[in-house]
Amino acid sequence: MSNSDSQCIYPSCSINRYSRGLCKPHYMVAFHLVETKEITWEELAENKRCLPKRGEKMTGAQEWFLSDNSNHQ
Ligand SMILES: [Zn+2]
Repeated sequence: MSNSDSQCIYPSCSINRYSRGLCKPHYMVAFHLVETKEITWEELAENKRCLPKRGEKMTGAQEWFLSDNSNHQ
């Protein structure tokens, strides 16, 4: 599965990643949703619908403070 590192994280999509772990077509779908305020990149990343932007990833400590789940994994 080493090839999958460079592929879009969308299920069954084998197009190379463009940004945030998504290929360009899927990135544009997500981008449109963020633009129209349907969702934020942070929420998408949290739901594993995209990867956090490089350098934007929260530290484990920040995640712990922001999490409302005491069973933090
Ligand atoms: Zn894709």
